[in-house]
Amino acid sequence: MNSVLVTGGAGFLGSHLCDRLIQLGKNVICLDNFFTGSKQNIAHLMGHPRFELMRHDIVHPIYLEASEIYNLACPASPVAYQYNPIKTIKTSTVGMVNVLGLAKRCRAKVLHASTSEVYGDPAVHPQVEEYWGHVNPLGPRSCYDEGKRIAESLCMNYHQAHQVPIRIVRIFNTYGPRMDPNDGRVISNFINQALRGEPLTIYGNGEQTRSFCYVDDLIDGFLKMMEQDETTGPINLGNPVENSMLELAEAVLQVVDSDSQLEYEALPTDDPRQRCPDITKARNLLQWEPQVSLKEGLTKTVAYYQDLMKQETA
Ligand code: NAD
Ligand code: UDP
Ligand code: UDP
Repeated sequence: MNSVLVTGGAGFLGSHLCDRLIQLGKNVICLDNFFTGSKQNIAHLMGHPRFELMRHDIVHPIYLEASEIYNLACPASPVAYQYNPIKTIKTSTVGMVNVLGLAKRCRAKVLHASTSEVYGDPAVHPQVEEYWGHVNPLGPRSCYDEGKRIAESLCMNYHQAHQVPIRIVRIFNTYGPRMDPNDGRVISNFINQALRGEPLTIYGNGEQTRSFCYVDDLIDGFLKMMEQDETTGPINLGNPVENSMLELAEAVLQVVDSDSQLEYEALPTDDPRQRCPDITKARNLLQWEPQVSLKEGLTKTVAYYQDLMKQETA
């Protein structure tokens, strides 16, 4: 039976995707270099007859057989991707070429995890797929943004030159259980700060916006995108409900039932001021839209971090 390869499969999104693919009866090869992912995320799948774990770095060639590839390998949190910017660029460029070379040889379909970051600090709001973006090519985020832009370009070039079937999804901020509590992203920071009774760190004045999608909704979107043959994308996948970071802090404090204070810190360089997906294409072409509200998603995520804290103190 043909296998599905998930690069970055031990990460936050990748591990949820592996779960869903196993539930669907697929043979799954999970490939990861464990830079930001962890064995704990996929521990429950170890020993499953249709699950295989491979420690590998996609910057190096990969020879195996697969009929579908989900290319998720790349650190996603700004703290993680700026830790070694050259490695981040190599992962999205050299790594992407290896994934596409593999797909070309195996005649496999590739779903590539792109990002709303290709729009940079957007001048068009909400962001439509036709918008070319506003990215600083020299700033601290460029290793990620520009890497992901080249990855999209490579996908389309392999599609045109070698007929590799491509599906590009541009993912907007997604959260849920298994986000590394120390990865520096806003939802993991706020929840863990609130649970410890520490102040919530608001960068800048907190009026910048993001749109937060719960992980289960996003994985539904991945599967629908892979299944269909109508479009290569890019297609935006995200929740069109936009919140400021102050509103998010308020929502987290309510769900955790915490009276933590807010603490203001400097806004990171090139931090996008606003971000919200236009998901008309996903609605029309994939019949997809998020189902989980922020409150519901936060409640599940808080429960996950509470369990994690209990395990750590046990
Ligand atoms: P994550 O950091 O939890 O997962 C990334 C995984 O890729 C990790 O397991 C990491 O160890 C692995 N990895 C990194 N470099 C690798 C390499 N060179 N070779 C092999 N494995 C490597 O992040 P995530 O949130 O699960 O993101 C998954 C993908 O989705 C990333 O490509 C990210 O850019 C994209 N994305 C995520 C979001 C989000 O909000 N979560 C938003 C936009 C795009
Ligand atoms: N590649 C790989 N696995 C494969 C096939 C190719 O990792 O199963 C790598 C190979 O190392 C090459 C890259 O993918 O560097 C691009 O492959 P392609 O066939 O497009 O390029 P070429 O080998 O012709 O340079
Ligand atoms: N942010 C914040 N406090 C934190 C972490 C992040 O106010 O402790 C802000 C950050 O400046 C950005 C937003 O929250 O405006 C989302 O940040 P995140 O790193 O989660 O994702 P990204 O910037 O990649 O969208």
